Amino acid sequence: LSVSARTVRDAAGEAVGAALAFSDVTDLVTALQAREVFESSVSHELRTPLTSVLGHLELVLDDPGLSEAATRQLRVAQRNATRLQYLVSDLLDPAARGLGTLELLRAPTDVAALVRDVVATGSAEARAAQIAVVAHADDCVRAVVDVHRVHQVLDNLVSNAVKYTDPGGSVDVTVEADEDEVTLSVTDTGIGIAPDDLERLFEPFFRADHARERVAPGVGLGLGIARSIVVAHGGRLEVDSTPGAGSTFCVVLPRGDHAVRDLRPDH
Ligand code: ADP
Repeated sequence: LSVSARTVRDAAGEAVGAALAFSDVTDLVTALQAREVFESSVSHELRTPLTSVLGHLELVLDDPGLSEAATRQLRVAQRNATRLQYLVSDLLDPAARGLGTLELLRAPTDVAALVRDVVATGSAEARAAQIAVVAHADDCVRAVVDVHRVHQVLDNLVSNAVKYTDPGGSVDVTVEADEDEVTLSVTDTGIGIAPDDLERLFEPFFRADHARERVAPGVGLGLGIARSIVVAHGGRLEVDSTPGAGSTFCVVLPRGDHAVRDLRPDH
């Protein structure tokens, strides 16, 4: 039962009584409880088999006798199962849907190594699409970030760049840093984004017409989630695009107290 009270005043503003309203909110509470039960059981039902798939993939990939071709294929499967795992978490994580605070596990991280890793693990898909993905990230660049979440953001931007670029095109991923900020840029020579669509890119489930026409896999959640992660770091996600020529997505992150931690030998 929900009760609300309000003072009743006369024309002169004098309190003359009180009005009490009682409402039956059983249905609302039942609906909220049902949603909670639904979310946690769906989350469990989806996560358990995925964890098993990933565990077995890892075991098979550990086999030293595995051929290079099989390793490559299995890595693609591993990468996509991991992506699915993130998607499940994000769909069911109220924080990632902008309803709360996204919890970050920050630690000093070499973001240049992270960029090289994203490019290396993502290159199988790009190779299949005949798109050259190149990392321009040789020197160590430290920032205090949540390594898995930033990996997720970059992975999403690189895989979008590959998805929305025609065969023969290229994707360049660069790292630039000054004292306070690090900027990770993903530039493609792809189909680009219409000016009217630029503002809507980060809306949940938004996909531009060209994305739907391309039959590129996706549900339109990646960029919104990427932006939530970047914003939770105190950073920003910017986009610049020319239809027919290509797009650049820039992730700007504060570097945190990386300099102090750099002095410690274990970092
Ligand atoms: P998804 O790729 O799953 O559709 P995203 O949220 O990652 O969802 O992206 C939203 C939309 O933004 C895409 O459907 C596509 O229309 C557009 N988009 C994103 N990245 C690019 C890019 N690099 N080039 C052209 N369009 C893009």
